[in-house]
Amino acid sequence: MSVTIDYNKCNGPECAECVNACPMEVFEIQGDKVVVVREEDCTFCLVCEDVCPTGAVKVKED
Ligand code: SF4
Ligand code: SF4
Repeated sequence: MSVTIDYNKCNGPECAECVNACPMEVFEIQGDKVVVVREEDCTFCLVCEDVCPTGAVKVKED
């Protein structure tokens, strides 16, 4: 799976909807950014895309 965040759209840690919603803890807050840390654990549930208010998260099957 490939999980990417478009930083031109992401609202960062003040949002963190994807961090809180992902059941596999794929996202993490690091400083002033939300980053993808466990892409390999992604199950393609697409909850993160659903909760992201700006369309910044994209998940693709490899
Ligand atoms: S698709 Fe599901 S498991 Fe994968 S990063 Fe998004 S919320 Fe997490
Ligand atoms: S849900 Fe979207 S806007 Fe919010 S932190 Fe995650 S990627 Fe950024």
